Amino acid sequence: MEFKTKPSQKFDLPKRIARLGELASNLWWTWQPESAHIFGKLDYDLWERLGHNPIRFLQEVNRKRLTRFAKDKDYLDVYDAFFKKFDSYFTKKSWAQKAYPEFNGKPVAYFSMEFGLHETLPIYSGGLGVLAGDHLKESSDLGLPLVAVGFMYAQGYFSQRISEDGWQESLNNPLTFEYLPISLVTKNKKPLTVQVEFPDRNVSLQIWEVRVGQVPLYLLDSNVEGNNDFDRLLTARLYWSDLDRRVMQEVLLGVGGVRALRALGLKPAVWHMNEGHAAFLTLERARELVASGSTFVDAAKKTLGQNVFTTHTPVPAGNDEFPLWLIDKYLAKLWPELGLTREEFMDIAKNQKSHTETFSMPILALKLSGGSNGVSELHGEVSREMWNFLWPQKAEKDVPIQHITNGVHTANWMARRLNNLFEKYLGTKWYDHLDDPATWSKIDTIPDAELWAVRQHLKRKMTFYMRERVRDRWTRGGFHPVQVVSSGVLINPYALTIGFARRFATYKRANLILSDVDRLLNLINRPNMPVQIIFAGKAHPADEPGKQLIQKVYRTVKRAETGGRLIFLEDYDMNLARYLVQGVDVWMNTPRRPMEASGTSGMKAAINGALNFSVLDGWWREAYNGRNGWSIGQEREYASQELQDIDDAEDLYQTLEQKIIPLYYNRDAKEISHEWIAMVKNSMQTIIPQFSTRRMVKEYVEKFYAPALKK
Ligand SMILES: *Cc1c(COP(=O)(O)O)cnc(C)c1O
Repeated sequence: MEFKTKPSQKFDLPKRIARLGELASNLWWTWQPESAHIFGKLDYDLWERLGHNPIRFLQEVNRKRLTRFAKDKDYLDVYDAFFKKFDSYFTKKSWAQKAYPEFNGKPVAYFSMEFGLHETLPIYSGGLGVLAGDHLKESSDLGLPLVAVGFMYAQGYFSQRISEDGWQESLNNPLTFEYLPISLVTKNKKPLTVQVEFPDRNVSLQIWEVRVGQVPLYLLDSNVEGNNDFDRLLTARLYWSDLDRRVMQEVLLGVGGVRALRALGLKPAVWHMNEGHAAFLTLERARELVASGSTFVDAAKKTLGQNVFTTHTPVPAGNDEFPLWLIDKYLAKLWPELGLTREEFMDIAKNQKSHTETFSMPILALKLSGGSNGVSELHGEVSREMWNFLWPQKAEKDVPIQHITNGVHTANWMARRLNNLFEKYLGTKWYDHLDDPATWSKIDTIPDAELWAVRQHLKRKMTFYMRERVRDRWTRGGFHPVQVVSSGVLINPYALTIGFARRFATYKRANLILSDVDRLLNLINRPNMPVQIIFAGKAHPADEPGKQLIQKVYRTVKRAETGGRLIFLEDYDMNLARYLVQGVDVWMNTPRRPMEASGTSGMKAAINGALNFSVLDGWWREAYNGRNGWSIGQEREYASQELQDIDDAEDLYQTLEQKIIPLYYNRDAKEISHEWIAMVKNSMQTIIPQFSTRRMVKEYVEKFYAPALKK
């Protein structure tokens, strides 16, 4: 092949275990339950200290230790078995090859502004990115030819610190590329670049490749020689808040992304936009045809069938749109190339519903995609209503927006101990039959005591992790003792523990449970029935109300009467998310209905045997059956937010007081709550197969990708 990716970091490893280098360079390791052992065993302290970064770890781990392990029979047995699995993963005939051989050589191109693959590659901010990351991992597991496009954000996403007074501070961490699982794409020994024109200049992009199992992810990077200093920073950060840079970024993603795939010699047959940020790709694809003689109308018709658009936003204000003068500023060269006048061009995506006229990215995507979807059943309904005005002649139910409910990548989020338990009781091949309900009918064969023991273990593990984090933070100084308590040092590994971790946006109502603090204090401090609540989450740095919400929560957490049972953990990321969804007993979500398009963290919790306690919004509205968790509030619309908040809070307190807490503490002689475990089993059985990316990606293939190939 003429394209090369600069060989990733060279590791100086003993020959017998040299393949660890290969493993470190493919994110496949991140969803193998044995990986923490394969790397960690060589030096657990260092593995933890480096934040589970195998590339840096292999560079820094002591050579003598490596030589010792290269001769250690026990280690080598595990190593050999592991690499056997690794090799067979890449050679075995997969679901997609059997069911959809027509995708060979015609990959699906998947565009997203962010990808949440692992905490060591912080190019994601939250749910949208984690969903994209899980989509890639599942596509790899299914053997679906898929290539992905995003950005290499050199400054990563910010780390969060909370001041003593509860104010969010953001720290930027420029990434050290040598420690990342990325390699530069080159051609004839020079970096492969593509150009994107703006009216007064061109911007060049180089391309980094990340291997996600069998799926390549291409990350665009404008930090190249020849670009001016301003342009070199365009891809440095996620979601610039100034619209100027934002529109430029989105042009780079949509237009630059198509050109990058072309330059790589790829021939995608389907173009999937994860949210509207990438919607300029529709225009670039049309432009290609116009350049070879088509009219724009014909070009749009021809390309429409292969464009797929997933919307994630249930509120008009949340949508990405630009004032027309910005479009003039950056895209004035494009409409003549499409054979359009300015008016015709603007009309494609003009949002008549905005206060001032704007160019709307979701409208662009909706109009130029053959298939569009929301991310839960309710969100599909909400989207059809919201965008009905684009199809005034159609009844709401006929608006061409379907729904595919989100899922999570099971292996990525499941604790190793649970995998062991499932292998024992559901069969060693359970993961291959993850979305088959028959697999889950065997869950009742798991003895309650064994499942309870694993749950207890996971909670202890989370509490140890929390303590180590506080210890580290305290040792480094500048941390007030009250913050030490607020970070969970008084946590009791045996008490009922509720998790609330997500982005701090006001509609998620992190403070709903704090609306009657006295009632809450009473409830968490009852004798013999203690309750702990762990909060975590970042607000977007420009989101003042979000930051104020964190402060409000933090000020309550700090109060002495909580007895250290309310906790706020700084710097929510995928690593902390993993500990929380695996460790807590109850996962709470309190969005103001119907603002939660889907939500996914509750699915991660359910996989690990936590029970959901949530508003009947997004995915939970579909999953809840009365025996697999609890609801908050009613399935109805409210005329006023205040009324909705009051009703929901009352219901939340009552369910906690009367149902959740008594059930958890209703123990037999061995201190096990069998009724609780019955709910856990029901939750796993109903949620794991249905709310997995296994089901989700197959649904994308069946509803959108495969039909697009035929169009
Ligand atoms: C899963 C996940 C999210 C998304 O959670 P929601 O349920 O959509 O709020 C956000 N951030 C991280 C780090 C996650 O792992």
